[in-house]
Amino acid sequence: MDELLRNPYDFVPFEGSPRHDFKANGQHATTEGLTGEIACELTVLTPLFVGTGQRIEQGRQALFHPAVVRDEPYIPAKSLKGMVRSVVETASNSCMGALSEEYPRIRILGTRRVPPGYSPCTSVRGLCLACAMFGMVEAGDGTGEESKVALAGRVWLSDAHLSSGRSGKFQEVELPGRFNKREGTIAPIGSPKPAHETFYFSENGQCLGRKFYYRTRLWSDTLRRYQTAYRQAFGEDYRMIVLETVPVGATFAFKARFLSLSEGELDHLLYGLCLEDGMCHHLGYGKPFGLGSVKIEAKSVRVLRSESESKGPALYLYYDLTQSGPEAFQIWDTLDREGYEVRVWDRGQPAQQVHQKLADILKWPRDEVFFYPDFTWFRHTEGSGNITLAEYQQGVRSKPITTSPRPPRGPTPTGPRPPRETAPSPSDRRRGRVQRFDPDSSYGFIEVPGQQRGLFVHINNVRGKVRLRPGQEVEYSIGSGPKGDQAVDVQPL
Ligand SMILES: [Zn+2]
Repeated sequence: MDELLRNPYDFVPFEGSPRHDFKANGQHATTEGLTGEIACELTVLTPLFVGTGQRIEQGRQALFHPAVVRDEPYIPAKSLKGMVRSVVETASNSCMGALSEEYPRIRILGTRRVPPGYSPCTSVRGLCLACAMFGMVEAGDGTGEESKVALAGRVWLSDAHLSSGRSGKFQEVELPGRFNKREGTIAPIGSPKPAHETFYFSENGQCLGRKFYYRTRLWSDTLRRYQTAYRQAFGEDYRMIVLETVPVGATFAFKARFLSLSEGELDHLLYGLCLEDGMCHHLGYGKPFGLGSVKIEAKSVRVLRSESESKGPALYLYYDLTQSGPEAFQIWDTLDREGYEVRVWDRGQPAQQVHQKLADILKWPRDEVFFYPDFTWFRHTEGSGNITLAEYQQGVRSKPITTSPRPPRGPTPTGPRPPRETAPSPSDRRRGRVQRFDPDSSYGFIEVPGQQRGLFVHINNVRGKVRLRPGQEVEYSIGSGPKGDQAVDVQPL
């Protein structure tokens, strides 16, 4: 078993240039192209948690409930669609939709940093394949919301409902998280996002590619490693997040409906759903820890036969993909499950490199333990002037979790500390470096030599009430707060 000190994800690089000449809709939807539905079965390979965002805070614990319908877990269509679309975008060399959907703040930044053609489609008149299939929203012409046009796309996924296992049988998985006054308990399970610049962009500012998480069967070892690291870094200053996950082996059923697709588009849809043998998807919370690995299998395909081919009323052709007889393939070789893999990727050398990288990241089963650092790592990397991943990992190799504390430049007190006064005298002033600072909670810590956890500092005790940056030098005095010592009269330098 390898134990790897590296990111739980990697990037599939950009190669070549996306096409933007795909049609939004067929003129005659039911007679042009392929219309029908694919019945799919999703199997849970590592514990799966798809939540509603609702939780119960219980002291040091936060209990996260899964999405349920009639007491049974289900997977909302939106989650499935995002998962499938990300693969189709990659396999079809489409635009990077994630830059527009979830991170509007970063859109302008991101679109300047991806190669030409990869910024999100802005007009229905110049669509990449993924936007043409799954839909998009026009960016508008800057005159206001009214100018935006939403394109629905021609692929719809249903919710996935439990088809095996009994309701109420959840497996509890514990993740350490942090506490934020505004949001309650949150886990660093969504990081990094494109705002974490040093992780998404190279030194010369170019986007590194499309992010995919590794899959590991050793999720419990990965999680244990992370919990230990978190405890070392924060002592008892963390909260436990309890996820009620769907256990391994459970299966869900859902349908993918499609309208007026070309054969190439259907190939991509099948690939986005089923991938290849030896690859699997990732879904829901806890991706960095290996939670939510799932495999999708297409069980059957119904295709509405076009009227131009049959004189009678429209009828569905039914293909049972679980049977390996030659009939289906002879009737229509697009449904050859080995064939579509070739067609999707048979587009020259650049596509082969992308394919290889995607296959490498999505490889299943992968028996490796990934080291996943604490959230301060991600906080450190927001904005400019931050450490790179390589620098961080060198620091981790010599000393886990925190970089070595720097000695303060000011006088270091020896012996017992003098009694505190309400207004510290100038001689009590010290210098230090900000260890971490959470802009949401408006507090952080200043490095103290020899101590893993630094000195607490609240924004109200910073002159001018400005937010501090990790690594920033400050001058401060020590005062007393409700939880013990804290930095007061803090002057950023
Ligand atoms: Zn697009």
